Amino acid sequence: MSLPPIAGHVAIRERLETAAQSGRLPQSMLLHGPAGIGKQRLALWLSRLLLCERRDGCGECRSCRMAERLEHPDLHWYFPVERPSKRPSSPAKLREALERARLAEVGRRREEPLQPPEADGPRGIYLELVQKMRERAASRPALGQRAVFIVGEAETMVPQAASPAAANAFLKLLEEPPRDTFFILTSSHPGALLPTVRSRVLAIRVAPLKEEEVDAFLRDEAGWPTEEANRLARISHGSIGRAIRLRDAAASAVHERADALLAAALASRRDRLEFLVTLPAARARTEFANILEAVEERLRDITCLALEHPEGTFDAEGARRLIGDRRLPIDTLTRAADHIDEARAAAQGNVNPQAIASVLLMELAGALDDG
Ligand SMILES: [Zn+2]
Repeated sequence: MSLPPIAGHVAIRERLETAAQSGRLPQSMLLHGPAGIGKQRLALWLSRLLLCERRDGCGECRSCRMAERLEHPDLHWYFPVERPSKRPSSPAKLREALERARLAEVGRRREEPLQPPEADGPRGIYLELVQKMRERAASRPALGQRAVFIVGEAETMVPQAASPAAANAFLKLLEEPPRDTFFILTSSHPGALLPTVRSRVLAIRVAPLKEEEVDAFLRDEAGWPTEEANRLARISHGSIGRAIRLRDAAASAVHERADALLAAALASRRDRLEFLVTLPAARARTEFANILEAVEERLRDITCLALEHPEGTFDAEGARRLIGDRRLPIDTLTRAADHIDEARAAAQGNVNPQAIASVLLMELAGALDDG
């Protein structure tokens, strides 16, 4: 199996290619932009280019073919993984367990590249995984002259603000990168990266895809029926990942929970308590993260309406249903959005979803009441 072809990002690819071929590509980069637009796919594309025997990403040499199948020994793809449920007896064993989880996930992504990862526990790029990365970076490339490290969702290197150890260990790597070794970080929340990490990478903004690019990908690569591809591309905000999530049947239940949460925040204290009572204690983390994302999306729509910009909304009707004829000031909505951001950050750590939901609900209610 190899990856589906990269969609869009034509202009940025031209720029990266020119820089790579003239030797001006920095050793450490950060690709940042909205979730699901293909930043890690772009990083994989760039890796192939860097590792290619002809240095042009020919697609035919051994190196290109191995990179395309995610089997290149000098292409190292890191991203957040779940900690093993049973704590291993030693740090070395934990390192190996996390590394195994990572390699298993690389394999899964090769087989089902369009399926988002499923996780019930918190995920992170934990210190032990970064140690493994440093170990690999210290040894010479196996095949050619170069090695590439991709670090997807790089902000999860600090899953808990109190323990920046993983990011600091990574920092040492960025400070003195081994020769001919490239680090490509990606993040849809670059503000959550440690400032010291951010200052050592060249930040490159990746724009959302064009609607027709999403549409073509969904039809030609994912094999969706034309009508469905059209409809979801239209509301994808240029994100293939988002279109795939929206298509998921479970998404409708997620949106219902998100609306219930916002409606409770807008209603009386009694309604809020009732909502919390109905929230199951141990909701699956992936689902909870999806609910928070749906809340954020709804709030963005409400903000679009407040700005009298209904064409920017995902679902104007749904947003109107929720707020009725209330007028919410923009700074109120911005405060509410900050609270959701905080809740999403907390949800990545080891905090009970119900506890996060109740804090979020109180804060949202406070913010929206003021308005
Ligand atoms: Zn090649």
